[in-house]
Amino acid sequence: MNLDEFDISKPFYGRVLSTERLTPHEATEVRHIEIEVDHDEAAFEPGHSIGLLLPGPHAYGHKNHLRLYSLANIEYGPHGKPILGICVRRLFYVDEYSGESYPGLASNYLCDVPSGQKLTLTGPYGMPFPVPGDSAAPLIMVGLGVGIAPFRALLREIYRERGAWSGPVRLFHGARTGLELLYHNDHKNDFAQYYDEETFQAIKALSPEPHLDEPVPIAQKLAEHVYGVWELLKDPRAHLYVAGSEHVEHTLEKAFQHMAGGLKPWTEKKTAMQADGRYAELLY
Ligand SMILES: Cc1cc2nc3c(=O)[nH]c(=O)nc-3n(C[C@H](O)[C@H](O)[C@H](O)COP(=O)(O)OP(=O)(O)OC[C@H]3O[C@@H](n4cnc5c(N)ncnc54)[C@H](O)[C@@H]3O)c2cc1C
Repeated sequence: MNLDEFDISKPFYGRVLSTERLTPHEATEVRHIEIEVDHDEAAFEPGHSIGLLLPGPHAYGHKNHLRLYSLANIEYGPHGKPILGICVRRLFYVDEYSGESYPGLASNYLCDVPSGQKLTLTGPYGMPFPVPGDSAAPLIMVGLGVGIAPFRALLREIYRERGAWSGPVRLFHGARTGLELLYHNDHKNDFAQYYDEETFQAIKALSPEPHLDEPVPIAQKLAEHVYGVWELLKDPRAHLYVAGSEHVEHTLEKAFQHMAGGLKPWTEKKTAMQADGRYAELLY
């Protein structure tokens, strides 16, 4: 869906509570930002995104600059106000002709925003990643780069809010270097809190040649775990969720086809899971 088609008619305010860099200085900057929002009617769920609305005018003549960010955590403050976490990668656009670097408007605004700052927000948007009703259900998540955000929200929900989760949980996540692994690097190891959960396994995929801008070998990681994943997906309760840059869509489709033994069995599997609400993707 084109960003112009998103409903921005009911904006609400947010106040930045904290902002923290997730990656060390030698890696691409990604920040975790906590925002208290003035919106108690909307139900925020893992898989939802909120919109940051930067009032214009901006270059290229657009009035409002709207960009979406997936929720990395959803909590409620003492007064019942939602406190939302987002994970923002500072983006630069490099002009291929001049070689000049232009800062992305919303991501740079958010990465520079101080605590206490008021934001104009919209949403929530998108389909949530539903928490399976049966806590014995296998849950497989594939989140690349900032695509890890909705799964952080989901993991917090299943382990913290729901208590024990007896089904196997597999999180495939990837980055170019270990330092860029969000919430799971030497600097900040958020997922470590789940390590003692017997059922939880995080599988990381790192680029073999990070300096060459090689794609993250997520397909290879899925292939290494193909039998395990395919076995889990045979369970009629299994859920499979995918999130991240749309550039990896093709790679992931190929990996899943390989896992299923061809295009036809994979398409059948995916269609059946989608119809049951057990497959969902958030690719942008
Ligand atoms: C559903 C959804 C969820 C998302 N979740 C996240 C998330 O959790 N975390 C996250 O970091 N991002 C997320 N994104 C991406 C995010 O919404 C923004 O697209 C991203 O942050 C870049 O926005 P920006 O305003 O910083 O950059 P923009 O100002 O939009 O610039 C980025 C692009 O604009 C164009 N552009 C910019 N400058 C020029 C120029 N001078 N000449 C020509 N073209 C130019 C280029 O195409 C460039 O790639 C999500 C997107 C979607 C759709």
